[in-house]
Parts: sequence; structure tokens; C-alpha cells
Amino acid sequence: MTDRPHLTEVCATTEAGDFEAHRSPDGVTVTMPCVHKFGGTSVDGPERLKALAAIIRDQRDHSVVVVSAMAGVSNELSQLVDAATTGGNKPELPDASTTLAAMKQRHLDALQAIVEEEAARAPLAARINEIFEGATQLLGEGPGGETGRFGDQLMAVGEDLAVELTVAALETEGISATVLDARDIIWTNSDFGAAVPDFESIRRLAPASILPLVEDGRVPVIQGFIGSEAGGATTTLGRGGSDFTATLLGAALGSPEVVLWTDVDGIHSADPSLVTESRVVSDVGSEEAVELSYFGARVIHPAAAKHAIASALPLRIKNSFAPERPGTLIHSDRGAAAAFAAVAHKTDVALIRVRAFPTALAYGFLARVFGVLGRHAVPVDLVATSHSSTAFTVDRDEDLSAVRRALSVFSEVDVLKDVATVTVVGRGMLREPGMDALVFWAVEKTPVYLISQASDVSISFVVDEAEAPDLVRRLHLSLIELKEAAREDEATASKGKEGDQT
Ligand code: ADP
Ligand code: ASP
Ligand code: MG
Repeated sequence: MTDRPHLTEVCATTEAGDFEAHRSPDGVTVTMPCVHKFGGTSVDGPERLKALAAIIRDQRDHSVVVVSAMAGVSNELSQLVDAATTGGNKPELPDASTTLAAMKQRHLDALQAIVEEEAARAPLAARINEIFEGATQLLGEGPGGETGRFGDQLMAVGEDLAVELTVAALETEGISATVLDARDIIWTNSDFGAAVPDFESIRRLAPASILPLVEDGRVPVIQGFIGSEAGGATTTLGRGGSDFTATLLGAALGSPEVVLWTDVDGIHSADPSLVTESRVVSDVGSEEAVELSYFGARVIHPAAAKHAIASALPLRIKNSFAPERPGTLIHSDRGAAAAFAAVAHKTDVALIRVRAFPTALAYGFLARVFGVLGRHAVPVDLVATSHSSTAFTVDRDEDLSAVRRALSVFSEVDVLKDVATVTVVGRGMLREPGMDALVFWAVEKTPVYLISQASDVSISFVVDEAEAPDLVRRLHLSLIELKEAAREDEATASKGKEGDQT
């Protein structure tokens, strides 16, 4: 029997970008572990954690597991952070000790349901208690001028708890599993709340810490969403960032595939919670996936989509409630997928409209506007311009007062906050003749502030937030449902003709 090469050895010989086959120095090919990320609803209580364990048990290859906090936990923690950093005694903000007590009970109840034997449960319950003692102490000390650092440390509690319960569920299922702390692998800069990963370090650290465990037949279980900065403080990658953790690890390990397990069957042609007629799309091209995620399809985090593509890493989105269903494959190469169309919307945006003073010079206006945005580091999503005015969307949570002041020196400025962007994504579709008519038929009844189409991959509209759900439904009806029905009619008619001729 040939000795199986050590994954660590193989990885050491792997060049960046060579993710297909991994060979040991003596030429034996092995498969790197797949990364499986489970979102909040997929770890939400004992039944879901048992389902997670069954999914991992059924995998043919080695697995690495990444988990988010249980559903709702990160939102509760975020409210505690707000209360501690800004709210003080605001009555609408929750009482910290009541929230923490309920959260603790929820995790202890889950543990009790997963691990029936008291002796086996005790050390895990002690660990959960320890995490809550840390959170209580942190809240007692308060942010002390270090809001970002404080916030990320508290936010990490959700994922710290989730890994403990996940290991318990896997072990109960007879799968040997170990917690690996993401802080030791996902090194980042110090931009708390939206930390930027240090790809080079992760590429080195991930194989070194993960592969020996895998070699040993253990499943490493790692917190999504969190990492650490050079001083050792906990950082987070931004809300929804567990998807990004999974692709960072998948790329660093040279995984054949990263699977994002969630609560829907894959990428739909629109958010299924909004459009019940939406269809699951079996495969999506890389650019479409990035565009969809940027414009609001939260089923995948934009940074994860971008990173997977840059690393030539295939991504699959699957339903943890129905693992037998095929899900959606996001191809890592441009244009590999079949024609595809989807509609997304995003509500956390603001629209800034800037109009040059009539006395302003006829040139240099746009340069001045974007110069201001660049200096204040405000990222812009959509833009439309005419000769003396421009309008663009930015993240609604940005503090825009300084930008507004700077722009007001040479222009009239207004900022609309109750707006949303609605975007149609689909390269093949947007090139078809007659498509514009269908798009504008859907938009006809909706007042639009801005239209933007910079590529043939997507077209976006900025509308009042209250109008967005309806516009999504109308675009879906016009571009997907009615077109599909027309195609079916055509197919039936041409079959009929063939039948007549025989
Ligand atoms: P997880 O916690 O598993 O990461 P998320 O809540 O972040 O899950 O993302 C899954 C949700 O994304 C779905 O429940 C769905 O409502 C929403 N969603 C929005 N747009 C789409 C889309 N185009 N396709 C599928 N799901 C979508
Ligand atoms: N738990 C984190 C959040 O809710 C990360 C994630 O779910 O991906 O944002
Ligand atoms: Mg998510």
C-alpha cells in the first residue's frame, strides 16, 4: 500500500493558483478538504446542529466546518454594543443583563439537548459559562474610548458559542471534531467592524493549523466572521462575513469547493422571501454572482464572491434543510454558466444629489465631487451624471456631514435617505433585443431617482424604499415569469408544427 502523503507536505508544494490537483513530493494526488460554512439558521438549536452533523457525516471527503452565530444572536449582540457605546439609557435599547441571561439559557438548553450525559456536558457548559462571564465583564468595563475594539470583542461571542455547540453535535454523531480559533488563522488589519484580511498570512496559517488535524481524522470547527489584528485583539470582517471566512480558508487550503449551507435552495431569481414565484438557479457565472451580492442578494457576501473568483475557487450554495437538493454552483471562471437573470434590492443606501452652482467653471466639476469623496474615503455604488449635476448612492450608515459640507462649497447638495436600489443582473439577458422595453414596462409606474448601467451585466434603479419590493416583483414578472411562459408557448407551438408535418 502506498503511504498517503501528508496534506501539510502537499500543501507546502502547491503554488498559488494551482488548486486542481495536489501532489506529494512522490507524486501521489490527494484531495484537499472542502470547507462547509453553516449560517445562523443552520446552527439554530439542537435539531439544526444534528442536521449539520449528518451533513458532515455524509461527505465523501475531509471537511472543515465554519459556523456563524445562532440566528438572531449577532443582532442581539449588536444592540448591546449600540447600547454600551451610544445609547446609554435609551429606553428602546435592551437591558444587557436580561439579554445575556436569555442568550446563555438558549445555548445551555441546546447543549443539554445535544449532550445527554451530564459528565460529558459539564466541561462544555463550563466553557459556555466562561464565554458569558467574559461578555459580562467586558460590558461592565465598557468601551472606554475604544468603541471598535470593544464592539468586535462582544460581537465574537456569538461565533465563540456556536463552535462549541457544533463540536458537541459532531462528537455526539461519532465524528471527532476540534475547535480551532479563527483568531489564530484569520489575521487582519485593525479596521474594527470591517477588518481587511491579510491573505498572505492566512495562506500560511490555514494549512499549518488545519491540515494536521485533518490528517488526524478530526474535523476542525472554526468561527466565521471573526479574526484578530496584530496586537491580538479580536476583529470582525463585517456583517454576514462568515461566507468570507469560508472562502478565505478554502482558497488558502486549495479546497476543491466551498459550500455555503443556508436556509434556501440556492441563489434564486429574486429573494424568495419577497417573490414567491422566484426560481432556483442551478449555476451562476462569477461576475453575476458578485453583482447580485453587491446589489443586495444577501445569500452570499460580496467579499466572499469576489475572493472566491479571484482565487478560482468554485462555490456552492445549498439548503441545510434539504441537503439532497443540488443547490447553486457559482463558477469561478467568467462566462462559464448558462444565461441567467435575477433581480435584487438593497435598502441600506442613501442618494446624494449634487448640482454645480451656476457660476461654477464648465469643467472640473466631477473631478471636484469625486475628489471630495476620495478624500473622505466614501465608497460610491451607483452614479449618474449630466453636464452640471451628478447623483450617486453611498452606504446609508456613513457619516456624511463632512462630505456634505465640503461639496456645499461649490454646489447645492441634497441627501435622500429613504431610498433603495433595485438591480436586474444577467449578462445574456440584458443584451437581448426588446429587453429594454420589458425593463421599462416594469418600471413605468415607479418614480425613479437614478438609472445606472455601466456594463452589460446589470442595470440599477434608485427608487423610494417603500416602492422597492413592488418594483422587484414587477421586474421579476416581466423579465423572468412572462418571458419563461412565452418561451414555453413557443416551444409548444413549434412541437405542434413538427407534429403536423409528420
Ligand atoms: P445565512 O445565515 O445562512 O448566511 P442569510 O440570511 O445571510 O443566510 O442569507 C440567506 C437569505 O438570503 C435567504 O433566506 C433569502 O431570504 C435571502 N436572499 C436574498 N436574495 C436572495 C436570492 N437572490 N436568492 C436566495 N436567497 C436570497
Ligand atoms: N453572525 C454574523 C452576522 O450575523 C456573521 C454571519 O452571519 O455571517 O453578521
Ligand atoms: Mg449570510
